Amino acid sequence: MSQPALAVVVPVFNEERGLPELYRRLNPALEGVGLPYEVICIDDGSQDRSLDVLREIHKKNFRWKVISLSRNFGHASACTAGLDHAKADAIVLLDADLQDPPELIPELVRKWREGFEVVYGFRTKRKETYFRQLLIRGFYRTLGIFSDFPLPKQSGSFSLLDRRVVEALRKLPERHRYLTGLRSWVGFRQVGVPYERQERWASVPGQTLPKLFGLAADAIFSFSIIPLRIATLFGVFLALVSFGLGLNILYEKLFTNKPIVGWTSTMLAILTTAGMILMTLGVIGEYIGRIYNEIKHRPHYIVSGTLGFD
Ligand code: UDP
Ligand code: MG
Repeated sequence: MSQPALAVVVPVFNEERGLPELYRRLNPALEGVGLPYEVICIDDGSQDRSLDVLREIHKKNFRWKVISLSRNFGHASACTAGLDHAKADAIVLLDADLQDPPELIPELVRKWREGFEVVYGFRTKRKETYFRQLLIRGFYRTLGIFSDFPLPKQSGSFSLLDRRVVEALRKLPERHRYLTGLRSWVGFRQVGVPYERQERWASVPGQTLPKLFGLAADAIFSFSIIPLRIATLFGVFLALVSFGLGLNILYEKLFTNKPIVGWTSTMLAILTTAGMILMTLGVIGEYIGRIYNEIKHRPHYIVSGTLGFD
């Protein structure tokens, strides 16, 4: 079999009901491109029958290959596993839940042929609950403020990556992987293609709110040390205020007969300072925790089996 020129990497976590529909829609989209292709599905420790469904699909169509991970490692690690196994010249990251339309892939490939090494989809509309939308918007805004370099707004993992970009990404050793951020960090010529984000097909979000918050924290703390600088600024501000207040208290003590009232001001000072100190410690802790995780050098994922790779 000839080396596939196009690979689609699909992280799968509890998607047994959506997979047949993915199979039905992805194949024609890829046939339309006219390049030899492979689809690499990574079963990220699903607890439902996803792996069985993937096995059946592989039996029907050898272009669909399977990597199963030994447990749930999360979306970014699953994608990393796929990127490590794909040998193609261009690699598309596609979610299994059909929120990103496979029909857009020919368009991504067209842009790639025009010479762009990264072609990412960006969402013009989201079909999400209002609450999630609000959170997501807040996240992008915060990230925009904190990041040291521009990150494309409203774009997720859905993208086509040139071989060179994949090699660059694979050289980044960090464990806390915010793929979208790393993708813009590596540079190269990048272009966005607009699309409308669809509703999740037949499944509940695998990215639960805690996972999304984790992702947001990863995005902010791994891409910026501005939170540390804000902590410093808080400290400087508090020190200046304390100094001013201190002078005032000294003045009243030495040069006036006013009795110095105690409880309220003392409590206020203690509580404010304690709050600020704890918050600053928390910020520092976020970074230390990340350093700790990085120096352990654990692998990003553990493969328990593969299907279709020789
Ligand atoms: N996913 C995964 N591991 C996880 C959570 C999700 O591989 O721990 C997969 C999931 O099957 C889907 C993709 O990652 O194909 C995106 O997940 P989801 O739709 O829950 O995320 P969102 O669309 O909210 O970003
Ligand atoms: Mg989704």
